Order: sequence, then structure tokens, then C-alpha cells
Amino acid sequence: MHYLRLALPTPLRRSFDYLPPEGLSEQAIENLEPGCRIVVPFGPRQLIGILLEISQDTDVPAAKLKSALKIFDSKAIISSDIIKLCQWASSYYQHAIGEVLSHALPVLLRKQEDIPQQMQTRWRLTTEGKGLPEGALKRAPKQAAALDLLQYGDLDLGISIEDLTAAELNRSHIKTLVDKGLAHSFETQIQPSANPHQPETPPTLNPQQALAVNSISQHYQCSLLEGITGSGKTEVYLRLIAQCLERGQQALVLIPEIGLTPQTLARFQRRFNTQVAMMHSGRTDRERALAWQQGRSGQARIIIGTRSAIFAELPDLGLIIIDEEHDSSFKQQDGFRYSARDIGIKRAFDANTPIVLGSATPSLETLHNAQQGRYQHLKLDQRATGASLPPLQLIDTRNSALQNGFSHETLTAIHEALNQNNQILVFINRRGFAPTLMCNQCGHIAQCKNCDARLTVHYKQRALRCHHCESQWPLPRQCPDCHSQDIDFKGMGTERSEQTLQQLFPNTDVIRIDRDTTSRKNAMQDMVDEVHKGEPCILVGTQMLAKGHHFPDVTLVVVLDIDGGLFSADFRGPEKMGQLLIQVAGRAGRESKPGRVLVQTLQPEHPFLLSLVNSSYNLFAQQLLREREVLGLPPYGHLAIFRAEHHNLNEAEQLLKDLRLHSETSPAANKTPQQAQCLGPLPAPMIRKAGRFRAQLILRADNRPLLHKRLQLMVAIAEQHPLAKKIRWSVDVDPADMY
Ligand code: ADP
Ligand code: ZN
Ligand code: ZN
Repeated sequence: MHYLRLALPTPLRRSFDYLPPEGLSEQAIENLEPGCRIVVPFGPRQLIGILLEISQDTDVPAAKLKSALKIFDSKAIISSDIIKLCQWASSYYQHAIGEVLSHALPVLLRKQEDIPQQMQTRWRLTTEGKGLPEGALKRAPKQAAALDLLQYGDLDLGISIEDLTAAELNRSHIKTLVDKGLAHSFETQIQPSANPHQPETPPTLNPQQALAVNSISQHYQCSLLEGITGSGKTEVYLRLIAQCLERGQQALVLIPEIGLTPQTLARFQRRFNTQVAMMHSGRTDRERALAWQQGRSGQARIIIGTRSAIFAELPDLGLIIIDEEHDSSFKQQDGFRYSARDIGIKRAFDANTPIVLGSATPSLETLHNAQQGRYQHLKLDQRATGASLPPLQLIDTRNSALQNGFSHETLTAIHEALNQNNQILVFINRRGFAPTLMCNQCGHIAQCKNCDARLTVHYKQRALRCHHCESQWPLPRQCPDCHSQDIDFKGMGTERSEQTLQQLFPNTDVIRIDRDTTSRKNAMQDMVDEVHKGEPCILVGTQMLAKGHHFPDVTLVVVLDIDGGLFSADFRGPEKMGQLLIQVAGRAGRESKPGRVLVQTLQPEHPFLLSLVNSSYNLFAQQLLREREVLGLPPYGHLAIFRAEHHNLNEAEQLLKDLRLHSETSPAANKTPQQAQCLGPLPAPMIRKAGRFRAQLILRADNRPLLHKRLQLMVAIAEQHPLAKKIRWSVDVDPADMY
């Protein structure tokens, strides 16, 4: 007998056996490839699973065995390498293999869909477009640029979205031409080298860059490239990629969630005459599946993507780069909670390829690994353009009258920068108008009904919004408790800073960049284009502005509220605060004009702030590392969190109590004093979120084997526990935050 052993997308941590579909020949069964998709009945539903193996025996009683419904793929769609990687991740993160494998596939292919055909939309001129005189549309420069592309290429072949991106144009520019009847779109099979161009000549590397490039081997080795902002890390990546392509291999580049700007992509496309595939959340399911297929078929030689691209199928993988390796978006925070950086290191090891972790502000884990000699530590400590790093200056706002959050000194500096025709970036990591609505008569504070959180005032929308569950209410005109009309907005958000600056500098453009102003497609790009024109302006925004952008005319950076990070309930708070501060500061003075950074604070004597301002990120990081060592926190100890969520806090805590107790008394428990320690169950720092109470149990151990031993035991107990059926519970290994 043959049994199909499948991974199914369910939270159950095991595989499932089925009989082959009825009527399938012996021959056909033997030819089935592990890694193909198979449709099976599962309770009242149908699920699509991945074949792990064909087995000769099964533990399932004959009466309970069901037949699979349909073999969906004739060949494997997941390679054995990726299946192996997923099996490792499933055991490391204690997550169900079926969900891990499903996550490794593009969303489209998790359904009963075929791998999309490699069709592409291209645009060419209409007869009317061809008849247009020279220099037409010159009042709309972007449209004129798109028209240029159409006119000077091969008229029949037309142009693709990649051609537009390489020219720093986007879909909306060509759409205007289509709407005017000057161009039309058509679908065609992709032609890999449809538009060969002469790749740009790279700049000469400076000695530190050259040393970095030459130090990275062709085989497995993890390197930390620690380079200050603007030190030319990307240039090092480009050289390594060039070498990788020359060896005939593919390169995988992972970037943070909001790190990929069209400028970055254009930079890759100018440098290489090869197909670059992109896998990130800004693309449709179909586009992502196509990019995945381009990597899998070997057609694309460079794959750029966010977190989940770490699972991309790349038959000739020869290099992995994790840009901004410290960024928290590499850790998935729900469902399958994995770190793409850490899986990347495992993947590089298995494939025997080099991996480079780049950052100006490396995570403490990575720094520690480099200091221990586990990673090669490469440094770039000069800006590549010759510009110097802007000095940071603390502005003590204790006892000073602030004008809607701005100190007198800050406003003077903004004035000066504007007078010199420069641009200013104001950073405040809180969107909305104000974080608190309070009644001056009775002290009532507007709270979310579903969460233990205050509601944020969004003034333009006349709304109160919860940033944790997205619920929304109209802005009240009077206090709901005492009916007084004396209600007040306390604190600052981006919207209020924008309003204040616009009132103080009425003749200057104030551009706000946060999640609310960039939700429309292309909105972010349009604003970035505006800034690149170089006119004096003030940018106000959240951390969306902190990363990756290169604004040559920004000379002054103002940081309004960073103190929160110093006192966060989360032990990683100060680390994240320091990284953010250095990254934002890095936006100032990137080219010929020197930069300056002002940091308003109520804690001007705090040792963390002082070391960031007076010495370097590295010294600050060493301070934090010493503190972590004393407390046995990562990277010196290892953590995992069991979370339980329920309408009833007692029941959630009861489940965790039982897990703790049963795992201590189980015959399988490790009874030595070194065993993993448990802390809790405790209520989460935010006890209630979206109507559910949250409890957590924290596990800590001096080494990973101890941690994993305890975890495995607890997961096994949880899976059998009667409460676990109605309580939402999860495991988070190496948690990125404690909430
Ligand atoms: P990072 O990735 O470290 O922030 P980039 O690679 O973006 O830095 O480089 C910053 C700027 O310096 C870019 O404008 C880049 O073109 C330029 N640059 C990088 N390396 C060199 C070099 N060797 N010579 C001249 N300019 C360089
Ligand atoms: Zn009141
Ligand atoms: Zn809420």
C-alpha cells in the first residue's frame, strides 16, 4: 500500500496521511514528486497540501483513512531544499509545518491556482501618439519623459514597467498617456533581454569598501558590514552581486518593509543588464507569484524582496544580502513568527553561500556574534561622498516654554536653514494630531473600548482612532462624562506638528509623510519626487522618513520625541530608540552641504542619549550589551514567549499556569538547575487588545538546547490541553517585542 504523507495548512503540528486519489495508477503514484500540491478533504472543507513523502505504512486506522481528491501539480512546486529549510524553521519556531510551507509559497499558489504564465504588460504608441510633434507635452515633464521612452525604443516592442522604473517613472505617468489616446497597453510573453542597455560604470571603491568586497568569500560565511549612514554599503552589495552573477549564480537581497524605494530599484537596474525580480507587499498576488517563478526558473538573476522572499526558490543561489539587518520588519509578529534574517543565515549555511548583514546600527545580537568571532566584522566609517556625519545636539526642554512642541532654539534653526534655501526634516514617531483627548473639568481621558489604550485624535478627519485595533469614533464636542465643552488635545502627533509649522512658516511647503498621508498608491513617491526638486521645504514624518531615503538638500534634522524609548516596558526599547535616532540623523547633510541634528529631550543627562550624542552608536551598543549581560537577556540568554488570548483573563492565565506546572512535573522534564526558567504567567503590558485579554509566560535559558527542550515539552502539553481548544495561544521564539 502507498500512503501520501502531506503537510496541510492547519495549526496542528504534524503531518497527515491520505490514500492516493481513487483510480490513480500504481505507476502514477510512484512518479509523484514530493513538493507537489494535492487537494484533500479535511472535515467539511477541502485543503491544499504539500506532499512530503510517499510512505509504505501509516498510523491512521484504515476506517479513518480518506482518499485525496486530486493531484494538483504533476511536478514539485517546492524544491527539496526549501522543504528542508521549512522543516528546520518549523522545529526551531515550534510552528506547524503545514503553515510554514504554505507561507513559503506565494499567496496565489496557496490556492488551487496554476503557476502564472509569464505574460507581461507593455505599452506602445498609438497612431495618434506616433504623429505627435517633437517637444510635445513639455509642460508635463514626467509624461514627456514617458513619451520619450516610447518614441526612442523599438516601436513594436514598446516598453515595460521595468523600463519606466529605470527612468524613475511609474504606472500613473503612462496611464495619463493612455487616457489621452497617445499610447495603449498589450499583453505579451516576457522577453528576458528585451531592453539591453549599457550598464553604468561603477565608481572606484574607497579602500574600506575594497577591503570589504575582497574579504567576502564565495562559500558560507556570515559577515556584518557595519557602515555609517551613507558610507557606501549599497555599493559594496552591488560589487558582490556583480561577482555572484559572473559566477553564474543568483543573488537574493532582503530589504525592510518600507525600504525599497523606486530609486533603489532604479539603481540596481542601471547597474546590471539582467532581470531583477521583486517580491514585496506593494505588488499584487499575481505579480509576486510571477517574480517567484522568475527566480525559480532561473530567468531572474537578482531577487529583491521583503521578509517572506527568504523562501524564494533560487536554483543557483550564490549570495544573500540582508540590508538594514536590525530592522524589526524582518521578524514576523503574528502567525508564523520567524526572523527572515536568522532563517537567511541557516539558508546560506545549507547552500554554502556567503551572507552579508548590513547596517549602520546593527542589532545587539549581530554585534555580539561579530565580537565573538562567529561573524566576520567589516567596517565602513567614512561617508562615501566625502561628507561628514552631522553632529547631534541635545536641546534641554525642561522648564522651557514650547510652542506646540517646538523649542525656541529649534524654531530659530529651522528659520536659518530655510533662509539658506535648505530642506528640513522633522521627525516625530507618532501619527495623528494628538495622542490624548482629555477633559479639563473632570479629567476624563478618551479610551478605546476594546483595548487598554488611549484614542488618538485625528483632527482633519474629526475622529478618534485606536492605533491598536483600528476602531474609530467621531470626535466629541463635549466630555461624555461631565458634558463640559472644555476638552483639550494633549501631546503632539505628526498632524499637529504639520499644522504648527504651516502656521509659523506660511510661505514654505510643509510635507507630512506618515501612514495616513501615504495610503493612496504612488502618494509616497509623488511626495518624494517633490522633495527631490530641491525647493526649500519642511518634511514632517514618522519612521517612514527615517530609513533609506537620500535627500541631498536636507541639512537640518529635528527629533521631537525620542524619550519614550528610554523608559519603554520592553527591554529592547533603548536599542530601538538608538537605532532610530542614528538612522534619522543620517538623513542630514548627505551631500555637499553640512548637516546638523537637534534632539529635543527632557532627559538631557541620560547616559544612553549622551553616548549616542558624544561618541558613537557602537559605544552606546556596548553599554546596552553590558546591561543585557548582567540581566541574562539576549544575546546572552535566550527567550521565548507563550502567549494566550481570551475573553476571560483567568482562563488564559490558567492555560499558561498548567503549561508551566505540567512541564515542571512531567517525567520528560529536565530537572537540573540549568533548565529553562519560567516567568509568569503575567498579564501582557497591554492587557486587553481588540477585546481579548492577553497573558504571557516568558521562558529564559542560558543556551538554546535548554530553551528548546522546555519549549517542545510545553507545546506537546498545550496540544493535548482541553483549554487550548478554545484559547488562542502561540509561541514566539526570539521575540522582537514583549507586547
Ligand atoms: P549606504 O548604503 O551606506 O547608505 P550608499 O551606497 O547609498 O550608502 O552610498 C551613499 C552615496 O555615496 C551614494 O550617492 C553613492 O552613489 C555614493 N558612493 C558610494 N560609494 C562610492 C564611491 N566609492 N565613490 C563615490 N561615491 C560613492
Ligand atoms: Zn469631563
Ligand atoms: Zn483599540
